[in-house]
Order: sequence, then C-alpha cells, then structure tokens
Amino acid sequence: MLKLAGKVGRIQLVEVQDRPLLLQVSTNPELPMVLRTTRAFLVSSQDIPAGYQHYLFPESLDWRTQELEGKSSFTLLPNDYDYLGHNDIIRLDGQAIRVLFRANSGHNSLLVTEQCNHYCLMCSQPPKNIDDSWILDELETLIPLIPRETPEVGFSGGEPTLAGARFINLIRMMKSYLPRTVVHVLSNGRTFADENFARQYAEIDHPDIMIGIPLYSDDPDLHDYIVQAPGAFQETVQGILNLKRLGQKVEIRIVVHKQSISRLPQLCEYIARNLLFVDHVTLMGLEMIGFTRANLDALWIDPADYRDVLSEAVGILAAYRMNVSVYNHQLCLVNDDVLPYYRKSISDWKNEYVPECDGCTRKSQCGGFFSSGVRNGYSRAISRFTDAGPKNPNT
Ligand code: SF4
Repeated sequence: MLKLAGKVGRIQLVEVQDRPLLLQVSTNPELPMVLRTTRAFLVSSQDIPAGYQHYLFPESLDWRTQELEGKSSFTLLPNDYDYLGHNDIIRLDGQAIRVLFRANSGHNSLLVTEQCNHYCLMCSQPPKNIDDSWILDELETLIPLIPRETPEVGFSGGEPTLAGARFINLIRMMKSYLPRTVVHVLSNGRTFADENFARQYAEIDHPDIMIGIPLYSDDPDLHDYIVQAPGAFQETVQGILNLKRLGQKVEIRIVVHKQSISRLPQLCEYIARNLLFVDHVTLMGLEMIGFTRANLDALWIDPADYRDVLSEAVGILAAYRMNVSVYNHQLCLVNDDVLPYYRKSISDWKNEYVPECDGCTRKSQCGGFFSSGVRNGYSRAISRFTDAGPKNPNT
C-alpha cells in the first residue's frame, strides 16, 4: 500500500508557517525562474538548481550536510515517498506530509468534507461532525495547481454536497481551470432532491461530470437501515430524478454485502424499470475498512457464496441494455458470464494481491484486493488460474 501521509525527517522552512504549505513538485532543473518560487524541487543529484521555494531531499540518497545547509527551505523525504514525481502536489504542515495529488495516477480522489448525513454500516470514511471548512479552503488553493492535462479527478466525502454553495463553486472551478478533466463525485444524492440546488449544479454545465450515488435496496426501509438515515431512500431517488431531468450524468453504486445481497436482483429490477435512464450501474465489493470492521458480522458474505446472485443481478441490468460494471471483485470469484462487465477498479495506492495469487496466469486481468482486505480477511475460495484459458477453476 502506497503511503500518502506521515511524518517527515528533518524539515527547515524559510520562515515559520502559520498554515500548511501546498507545493507542486518539480523535477525540472530548467524550469523558468518565475515558476520556481512556488514549487518544491525534488533533488536527485548533486546538481541542484537555485531559486525554488522548497527542496525535497530523498533520505535514500546520501546528502552531505553542506548540501542541505545551502538551502534555507528543505525537507528530508522518507523512503516511503520515493514514488513522488513531477507535478505531484504535497502539503507540508509542521513535521507532517500528505500527498494530495499524484500526476501519474488515474485514481486521484479529493476529500471535500468529513461531514455526512448518512451513517452507513460499511462507511469507509466515518463521518465527523466538525467544522472542516479548512478542507474547502485547501481545495480552492489546490485546484489551480493541478496539471491541465489531468484525465480524471474524483471528489468524495463524507457528503460533498453538504458544502452547499462552496461545493457548487468547486465544480465551477474545475470547469474553469481543468475543462478537459473528467470529474466524478461520490454523493448520497439527497441534496439534489432540492430542485434549486440541482439546478445550480446543472447550470454550471460542466462538459464531463458524473455523480455516483449509492442505492442499496428497492425496499426503502432496508436502504434507510443500511445508510442509518430515515427517509434517505425517497430523497436519494428524488435526487437522481432531478439530476436526470436536468440532463446530468448519474451513476448508481451498489455495495454488495450480507444486507444488500438479500434483495439484489429485486433492486436491479427496480433500477431497470424505474431508473433506466441512469448512465452507469456499478456492483461493488466490500472494502474492509472504517465501520465495516465494526459491523463485520452484519456485512460479510464470502463473494464465493453470492457469485450466482451477482450473475443474476448483472444479467437483469444487461438484459435491459443498461451500462453495467462489476468493481472491487477478484477474477476467480466471478462466474464467466460476469466477465464482460468486470473492471479492475481498486485505486492503485491501496491495491494488493495475496500469496494465493502467486503464479496466477490471469493476475494482470484481475482487480485484486483492497489492502484492507488483505489485512482483515478475504474469501476462502481464492484459487489461481493455471493457464490463460477462459475456464475459471472455481466454476
Ligand atoms: S488467484 Fe488470480 S484471479 Fe484470484 S484473486 Fe489472485 S490474481 Fe486474482
């Protein structure tokens, strides 16, 4: 698992900062002088260009004291951050570093808030009822630093739309600064039940944005139980309807677990009959993190035990010609009829494989595991493929 945050070694800043420092990393010794004053140079040799705001010295290289002392503002970068590269964006805050954006990754997700009006049984980012508007301040500084050629950026929470007008402003900034970047927002959809809010969002007229909204059951009571919020189902469906009426892209996200599996085919039938016009439906495996670990008995079902239900669910959506994807599953745990919809989806920084995968001939096609799953438990039925043929050994 890639380490995105932690403590750094020695740090020396040009002046005492009263707030975190956001810096775009550069490896370009030829950068025009005027641009150097706002960037951190990632040092890789004795040849160190002058004029950068900050210098990052990897601890893996053997720096002599005078090379460090020659710089008034520098950080000794632990080996965990060896992956840092040109155009990445970091936050330095006292002795702490956080990597906010990785230019070479297709999995950049920006947290908007930790506040949420759901309390989902399987929440991976347990909500906090605190004033965290500093995150929005930081995002408003960060967005202009993101490289223009970035293909995709995600926003997550908490519930990003609880930021109200400032969420709308973030999307407006994305359109202004990164008009060619695809934007994906994870939202529970309820704020869009307010037609005025949905209209403000639609009027931004972003060229390529999608809202990913979870729906866990066709039974309102079961959905509300899973998200621990009475009345959520009605507002979520109303939010989806408002967004589609205003011509906006919507994805429905279904996390498959012991609670949602009981009515998964019925939910897919409900979606196909009532929400046929949504742009994408994803069926997602469980991430063993956050509240999931506390509620494991209520949530865990071995994917090997629901593979036929998953096939049925995908079959229903596909029969209605809906755009379907299966995320966060291991290739050896899905039936062959799911393969056309199977996607490698786990973010690169938290994607791992287990010892049973050693020698699997289809590892490159398999999405693998969340790091949390590797640590906290996974299916009893992981079984490597031994040839490149289409036959799954578990079927
Ligand atoms: S054994 Fe192969 S198919 Fe199964 S999880 Fe490992 S890499 Fe994926």
